[in-house]
Amino acid sequence: MADLPSIQGEQSADVCVIGGGYTGLSTAIHLRQLGYSVIVLEANKVGWGASGRNGGHVGTGQRAEQGELEKMLGLEHARALWDLGLEAVDTVCELIEKHNIDCELKHGNLHVASKAREVAGLREEVEHLSNTYGYQQIRYVDQQELAEMTSGQGFHGATLDTGARHLHPLKYALGMARAAQELGATIYEGSRVLSYTEGEQVLVKTDRGQVRARYLVLACNGYLEKLEPRTAGRIMPINNYMLATEPLSEELARRLIRDDTSMSDSLFVIDYWKLSQDRRLLFGGGESYTRRFPKDIGNFVRKYMLRIYPELADTHIDYGWGGTLAITMNRMPDFGRLSASVFYAHGYSGHGVPTATLAGKLLAEVINGSAERFDIMASVPSPTFPGGTLLRWPGLVAGMLFYSLRDRLG
Ligand SMILES: Cc1cc2nc3c(=O)[nH]c(=O)nc-3n(C[C@H](O)[C@H](O)[C@H](O)COP(=O)(O)OP(=O)(O)OC[C@H]3O[C@@H](n4cnc5c(N)ncnc54)[C@H](O)[C@@H]3O)c2cc1C
Repeated sequence: MADLPSIQGEQSADVCVIGGGYTGLSTAIHLRQLGYSVIVLEANKVGWGASGRNGGHVGTGQRAEQGELEKMLGLEHARALWDLGLEAVDTVCELIEKHNIDCELKHGNLHVASKAREVAGLREEVEHLSNTYGYQQIRYVDQQELAEMTSGQGFHGATLDTGARHLHPLKYALGMARAAQELGATIYEGSRVLSYTEGEQVLVKTDRGQVRARYLVLACNGYLEKLEPRTAGRIMPINNYMLATEPLSEELARRLIRDDTSMSDSLFVIDYWKLSQDRRLLFGGGESYTRRFPKDIGNFVRKYMLRIYPELADTHIDYGWGGTLAITMNRMPDFGRLSASVFYAHGYSGHGVPTATLAGKLLAEVINGSAERFDIMASVPSPTFPGGTLLRWPGLVAGMLFYSLRDRLG
């Protein structure tokens, strides 16, 4: 996509959206479909954030497990969240189909148990989703069948969810941007919002221009920084890393993932992987919690890949990259309103491909006066990280190191 201009001077719109990732672009698409004029302000380029750098897994349900949600919120609320989780995947597929987005959409995720004691939990999950939610697209795969589906090491069983999808993340983001523009949204790149004021109208300022709007949507996720201190304490930016191998032979690629599904494991610092269209292994693993990325990201992620696929020891790593996402304390996203005119959604905790897409739809609905479905998400409690906006890092880092140590010790 050619560079888009940055904003100059004063513009006005019904809604100003800050952030050109899935949340902001989906909001723009859905608002345009309802007839609202929209200006999207993106500090860098469309898809520059996590939306252009992620693993492309489009999981069903919510990031938190249904059993946890039932305990936290009761069955009725948990069921509404499950339904929205499935609608999120459908919304991704509908956008791709309706707007002809060529982003390599495929079916299925194989989620493996990294520890023997987790097998019973996977079996129970399959039964629970079938009995309580009528979801039949997930099944348990035993160790013997799993060995025919992947040469990956150290797995004790798996679930195969054929309702999940996977895709090329940047192509999806750029396709959404094109769709938003075709529907009449204006997108400015290189337009970092420095501040905004709320009054009868919202006034959103960059260094070279400003937007007057009736409504403002914050869609900055892990890159929010200090723009909105009122929400910042409920999310924690963390960095996650990926590599791409050299293109693999057809035979090797099928040995790694026989059915071309995406794959993920059950470790707290999750490993996730899939094949690209040109048969590279795209492998995500490892996290860090400061602003600095490791110097050689490919090498940093490689050790996680080799733990699972030692046969790739001589395979060249062509690319490595990282991105910043926002997590929450309970791994459920944080949706809400700061006033009658300012709305936000973020903290998808690694489940943002479907959930940020859905967020855009629900943000458009709430701005259009239907709050019911937005509030199913917004009423999930979103605790502030201990230490709040300024002091949350030491606690997070200690917690994360504890859990990643537990991953390694088994
Ligand atoms: C390495 C990695 C792998 C991941 N894998 C998966 C996966 O497989 N499946 C999954 O579901 N999720 C995954 N995620 C998470 C997922 O990518 C995110 O949840 C999702 O992309 C969030 O979209 P977003 O639009 O809210 O945020 P982003 O895509 O991060 O976009 C936010 C945008 O806001 C802009 N911005 C910030 N501040 C300002 C400002 N002041 N003014 C103007 N613009 C601003 C930024 O430049 C950025 O482009 C992964 C994330 C990472 C980093």
